[in-house]
Amino acid sequence: MAILEIKKYPSSILRKRAKKISAITDEILKLTQDMIETLKVAGGVGLAAPQIGSSIRLCIIKPYEEDATLVLLNPKIKSGKGKARMEEGCLSLPGATFNVNRYDEIIVNAMNMEGKMVELKVKELLSRIIQHEVDHLNGVLIFDRVNLLERLKKARTLSPKSIL
Ligand SMILES: [Zn+2]
Repeated sequence: MAILEIKKYPSSILRKRAKKISAITDEILKLTQDMIETLKVAGGVGLAAPQIGSSIRLCIIKPYEEDATLVLLNPKIKSGKGKARMEEGCLSLPGATFNVNRYDEIIVNAMNMEGKMVELKVKELLSRIIQHEVDHLNGVLIFDRVNLLERLKKARTLSPKSIL
């Protein structure tokens, strides 16, 4: 296993729409293992493949230390309900956090590592992390989800030019 470099904003790969995965290859299996290791070292709760330089629709989620890592391929949020607002950070935006509004509960369809389609109904933190990671697969970052005033307040932590 290898620890991969996490791409930081404004790396252009973070703004690209990632490609759909058609088959689980050895390369994808290895990449997933490396992502799990990288997330552990980085101390985050989720990681999307574009963040480590691979523009494919793959993400891993691990909300709590004791949990097994959830691996989602081609995840798609089918529906969402309820509203929740919470301070969020991102491994690609070190030092910056934003209050992001998201669905409280979602239904997500994805392929698992066995190549089977699964449907998950999740809420609260797990739901939030999945929404955050699916955003990464679409080239969306947390500051895209906040208003101008909130961005201005945070302009000191990130270069103002880069987030406005
Ligand atoms: Zn992120």
